[in-house]
Amino acid sequence: KSKERGRNAMCFFDPNMQIAVLERAVLEAGLRHAIAEDQFLLHYQAQIDGDRVTGVEALVRWQHPQRGIVPPSDFIPLAEETGLILELGYRVLETACAQLARWAARPGMAHLTIAVNVSAQQLREPGFVDKVLNVIGQTGARPDRLKLELTESVLVDNVQDIIGKMSALKERGVVFSLDDFGIGYSSLSYLKLLPLDQLKIDRSFVRDVLVDPNDAAIARTIVTLARSLGLGVIAEGVETEAQRDFLAMAGCHAYQGYYFCRPLPIDGFEAFANRYLESA
Ligand code: C2E
Ligand code: MG
Ligand code: MG
Ligand code: MG
Repeated sequence: KSKERGRNAMCFFDPNMQIAVLERAVLEAGLRHAIAEDQFLLHYQAQIDGDRVTGVEALVRWQHPQRGIVPPSDFIPLAEETGLILELGYRVLETACAQLARWAARPGMAHLTIAVNVSAQQLREPGFVDKVLNVIGQTGARPDRLKLELTESVLVDNVQDIIGKMSALKERGVVFSLDDFGIGYSSLSYLKLLPLDQLKIDRSFVRDVLVDPNDAAIARTIVTLARSLGLGVIAEGVETEAQRDFLAMAGCHAYQGYYFCRPLPIDGFEAFANRYLESA
């Protein structure tokens, strides 16, 4: 008993906890500073359909002056908690659309799409549709080359509002993909309401698709579901040829993963795309 109380009392002064609070405060201040200083950059990971590179997913990185390249798992959750994701997400969208405009002017690159991850909070913003349309207008990107990746977490919100916003953007040509599909908690009935174009099979099902019959069944089911709903389907986290072959057999012909290409700075991706084009 006294041991328990002792532990609780200790907890209040737990130096680890103080460090955690401090680290969080430092990280939040750092994040604000980083936004002001524009320390973010995008890496691009190829998306393959059949034997063609059809586009990329834009993945944000924080180019930290001391820590080097910081992955999104280390700062996106805090950016979401603090609302900083709104500004950060806007910058990501601007950078991606400016890249689309540059590709539009280059032969062999003009067909490429860019998938941008959009947090539920961004979509929840009243001005979201106008913001996206303004960025498209200002950069000169083709709206049908922009793909917005949403997760099932958007569905905890007012679904009618989400549908309205998606529809408004879709009318202008913007494409929608449902990211990490299968790990969320969305009811299948929402799936037919949302004006989606694509389901993205979560990496967790792809990883063990050859060894775990349950994952194999889920992957196959998602492919069938997508097809029945008239949607495209892409698999993320494809690391081996055998995984790619399994997915192809299951009817999924679009892939993203280390087997094809890691997320790379723009030059690295363009070099990959050119090599891929030549070898095809
Ligand atoms: P995500 O959207 O599901 O992105 C795919 C993640 O899987 C990326 O991690 C990518 O590097 C990784 N990946 C790709 N292929 C493979 C593979 O073959 N094997 C394995 N093990 N991993 C693979 P990353 O870049 O660390 O991004 C993590 C998450 O951070 C993203 O997951 C996305 O949810 C979020 N994120 C990234 N950029 C943004 C952004 O601009 N805005 C928002 N809101 N979230 C972002
Ligand atoms: Mg994504
Ligand atoms: Mg994903
Ligand atoms: Mg994922």
